[in-house]
Amino acid sequence: MRTLTGQFSLEDKTALVTGASRGIGKAIALGYAEAGADVALLARGTTALEEVADEVERLGRRALVLTCDVSDGEQIRRAVGTAVSEFGQLDVVVNNAGGFEVAGPVLELESSDWSTVMRVNLDSVFHVCQAVGRHLVKRGSGCVLNISSIAGLGGVPMMAPYAASKAAIISLTRTLAAEWGSSGVRVNAMTPGWISTELTKDILGNPDAGEGLRAAVPRQRFGEPADLVGPAVFLASDAARMVTGACLTIDDGTTCYVGGPAMIQMLALGRVAV
Ligand code: NAP
Repeated sequence: MRTLTGQFSLEDKTALVTGASRGIGKAIALGYAEAGADVALLARGTTALEEVADEVERLGRRALVLTCDVSDGEQIRRAVGTAVSEFGQLDVVVNNAGGFEVAGPVLELESSDWSTVMRVNLDSVFHVCQAVGRHLVKRGSGCVLNISSIAGLGGVPMMAPYAASKAAIISLTRTLAAEWGSSGVRVNAMTPGWISTELTKDILGNPDAGEGLRAAVPRQRFGEPADLVGPAVFLASDAARMVTGACLTIDDGTTCYVGGPAMIQMLALGRVAV
């Protein structure tokens, strides 16, 4: 058995992170490199990936750039194949690429809006899990970390496709943990709250919307990508060897408020006795 500190190390492991060119994926990829892993970096934009690859190499680890659109299952299968043949094997895979390219009230959405979000956020996770699962299950070790969202824990007006895709990721995570449990492959999910990234800058930076959303966070702050790195390293490491099928919420307590923003406003206005 390794020392407690050693159990958190990713030394000599290999990882693949989708959406690794910026934001949460970039932070996790660099965190994995710092913890000792070689990292395959996947996204559509090659230039930004190459910059992250340089940072991984400055940390003394090997980097592999995989230019790939995760909405295309065939591109995913090719990219996973390249990562396995270049690294020899994959130990950790993070399904992080995603976003909310389309938003609006359900009554105004086109069915193509729905499928666009599902293809990028959910179908991609299925395709990556299937491609790496064939490799991991055969080998009998490894783990997958799927980035869901607190949006997947409830309903989110104006963001139905996004919320549904993130809820389905949690369900898929649990199903795969059950299907692959006996082979020794672990599958977990994280549901982050609001994190300041390119994806959220217009919402969080909006003076009205941003302040309202911040008020709904018990700690009155938005997270940074770096806030997710420790939990992502833990779930990928041997320290989490008994953790599978779990969904770890990292949201500064946002989902602890039963009444949500309305309750906070009532408390602030003194309309609810405490
Ligand atoms: P971001 O800053 O917009 O980064 C998204 C990453 O995904 C980029 O590397 C992007 O690179 C890549 N990507 C997007 N579409 C892709 C595609 N079709 N194929 C391949 N790569 C693609 O977003 P983020 O805030 O870091 O979010 C990352 C993940 O965390 C998402 O799944 C998001 O839903 C989830 N999340 C975010 C928050 C938040 O508040 N930010 C909260 C909870 C969950 P390219 O554009 O070059 O492809």
